[in-house]
Amino acid sequence: MPSRTAFGGMLQEIASLGILEFRTELLDRKIERRLKHLWEQRTCPDCGVGQIYAGQSSDRIWCGRCSFMSTYTLGTPFYDAELAGGEFLVAFVLYADSLLSINQIAMLLDRAYDTIHSAIRKCDRAFQRGFPAVWERLDREIDGPTQIDESQQVCSGFKSQDPPRDSLSRGGSPEGGRTRWTGDQGDELTLVAACRDVLRVISAEKGTRYDEELAPVLEEAQDLSQELGEVWTDEYPPYQQMNHDHRTVLHDEEYVSSDGVHTNQVECLWSIIQPWLRKFRGLSRQGLEQAARTFGFLRSLTLARAPL
Ligand SMILES: [Zn+2]
Repeated sequence: MPSRTAFGGMLQEIASLGILEFRTELLDRKIERRLKHLWEQRTCPDCGVGQIYAGQSSDRIWCGRCSFMSTYTLGTPFYDAELAGGEFLVAFVLYADSLLSINQIAMLLDRAYDTIHSAIRKCDRAFQRGFPAVWERLDREIDGPTQIDESQQVCSGFKSQDPPRDSLSRGGSPEGGRTRWTGDQGDELTLVAACRDVLRVISAEKGTRYDEELAPVLEEAQDLSQELGEVWTDEYPPYQQMNHDHRTVLHDEEYVSSDGVHTNQVECLWSIIQPWLRKFRGLSRQGLEQAARTFGFLRSLTLARAPL
């Protein structure tokens, strides 16, 4: 990926020369104001009736009725964290909207790799939880045919955990920041994606059984859009069990059938998720599941002209 190296490398270089520095104090204050404001609109999570007050010059929030007391970051990824709110957001936006590696983002924010990695993962989970609410607010009709397709993806060799930091340079390229996890090949997962209009739902699954692994992705696409109409697939056998109105394109012979059926949107999605996933130096199974899902939602927002 020459563009990634050029852009990421350039940013990294100007950051190391001290030309570029991220100062997030203003953003931190804005996040604090907004979260405190949100708390003041709510009733107490403990007693359910008391009004919540927020301190002007402290992090504290408290109930006017019972003994509930906490900090305004409660329930957010910023709670009890090493990073300030603004740093979280800058790290997440750089992760989501650029091809910078996690390592490069850590260097830009002058933080340890693990700190940035775990902050991004926390934001990932919050982003996924919040996506349906944000999507609904865009109030956009999502209809037309739904394309679904699957693609193989191999995780790093470490079962259910991310590759260890100290093994990262093993056998990789000698250039810092570009080395990859090159341990044993790990679990093979199937990425399943459904595309409908601007909506993209991606899921990483153990296999391709229709009921257990393909159908849930379609159902989720339906939950986030209108009732499903036609579903377009290639001629992969599990799709034949589908009870939706279903049309196939025969890939070996043609990319668009004579009546216009194709899975080009999903094929395109596979080609753009691959360079993005390389920002990780290898992914555990859980890491891949999470990243793939985030990517689908990010892509949906971008296509809906409501980018992060
Ligand atoms: Zn209370």
